[in-house]
Amino acid sequence: MPSLPIPSPPRTTEFSELALIEPLLRAVAAEGYETPTPIQQAAIPHVLAGRDVLGCAQTGTGKTAAFALPILQRLVAAGPVTRGPRHSRVLVLTPTRELATQIGDSFATYGRHTPLRHTVVFGGIGQNPQVRALRAGVDILVATPGRLLDLLGQGLAHLEQVEVFVLDEADRMLDMGFIHDVRRVIDRLPTRRQTLLFSATMPAEIRSLAGSILVRPVQVGGAAPVSAAADNIDQSLYFVEKADKRALLAHLLGDRSITRALVFTRTKHAANRVTEHLRRAGVGAGVIHGNKSQGARERALADFKAGRARVLVATDIAARGIDIEDISHVINFDLPNIAESYVHRIGRTARAGAAGIALSFCDTAERESLPDLERLLHAPLRVVLDHPFRSPLRPPAPAPVPSAAAPSRPRGPAVAARPTHRRRRWWPRSGR
Ligand code: AMP
Repeated sequence: MPSLPIPSPPRTTEFSELALIEPLLRAVAAEGYETPTPIQQAAIPHVLAGRDVLGCAQTGTGKTAAFALPILQRLVAAGPVTRGPRHSRVLVLTPTRELATQIGDSFATYGRHTPLRHTVVFGGIGQNPQVRALRAGVDILVATPGRLLDLLGQGLAHLEQVEVFVLDEADRMLDMGFIHDVRRVIDRLPTRRQTLLFSATMPAEIRSLAGSILVRPVQVGGAAPVSAAADNIDQSLYFVEKADKRALLAHLLGDRSITRALVFTRTKHAANRVTEHLRRAGVGAGVIHGNKSQGARERALADFKAGRARVLVATDIAARGIDIEDISHVINFDLPNIAESYVHRIGRTARAGAAGIALSFCDTAERESLPDLERLLHAPLRVVLDHPFRSPLRPPAPAPVPSAAAPSRPRGPAVAARPTHRRRRWWPRSGR
């Protein structure tokens, strides 16, 4: 791949300055978006100009609109075209069913004043409704790789007329073992097309994939340090014995300021047990993990979104990319095995500029993973000692953190202060 030109940051601060057409501006205004996020400012002009884009951005940065808005505009500008049956003009490939649904919803929202049609296909449910939706052809197809390959194999979907291909969350595709499926899908695409690749991180394998599928791409979005995502999240740590974790969780949920909590467990089994425990304690809780049927997952998500369940218990894979507004708290019932997952998890709160709160439980065995986590965060986590399930073991000494980092409050006596819950955008307004 040739070296990537990194454009200087644009000075645009209004959607109207992005040369977007009126039906899209109207839809964006109706969503209450005031200014484009940095990734939107950076990507939209290039996508509109037909360039290939390598976007370094994670979910929560506004990246869906960064590709959906200019894609919709390009399709509108091209005017109605005769699609073959089962053909699509845009393919968005994304790793999970939940993300696919959300991206489909975003196309519906932003494209509501356009005549464009989209559909979403993913596995875990019967394919017939999806096949019916595809039959006449759609403008935009949002898909997970496995189901799409099934449909392609049966001749029920065709990609020969794809003009724009979006590969979303490329690093997740890699983590989840989908990268071969992704390559197989790419092999079916026409070589003449516009390609947009988005990834939160850029490991060597993704760079190499980018090199093979992008033509003279513009790079947008910074490879922001993953810990940057946590800036407006109040984070704290509870030392607790494993056997007391469920009681601690139920105790904390007695605080009604926890209005909507996403609780992460390491295993599906633990997710079920925690959910049962909460229900017995009278807390409305739903659960999503990989063993749950698609219908059960959708119901749990819908109950959580609608406020019928105050808590959603999830494993990492099931929660990937979930975009639910107003999650007041992310609770790490178990610390994740990989430090980076911590940042992805807590990023489920503090969406779209709001502030959020993340509480993490740490049992004796998990203390081993703390130094890695604190190095990644460039600061020790604030420890809460005044709770009834406090571990009898002394808290470990905080790991040394890089000297450049601004240390957070030192580990020490109990901190009971309530974090401020001010709404705040975490993408800066660029001044003019
Ligand atoms: P995404 O990164 O695409 O998952 O978007 C994260 C959240 O930000 C979604 O809830 C969007 O509705 C919201 N969002 C996207 N763009 C903007 C914007 N320009 N202003 C405010 N909110 C936005």
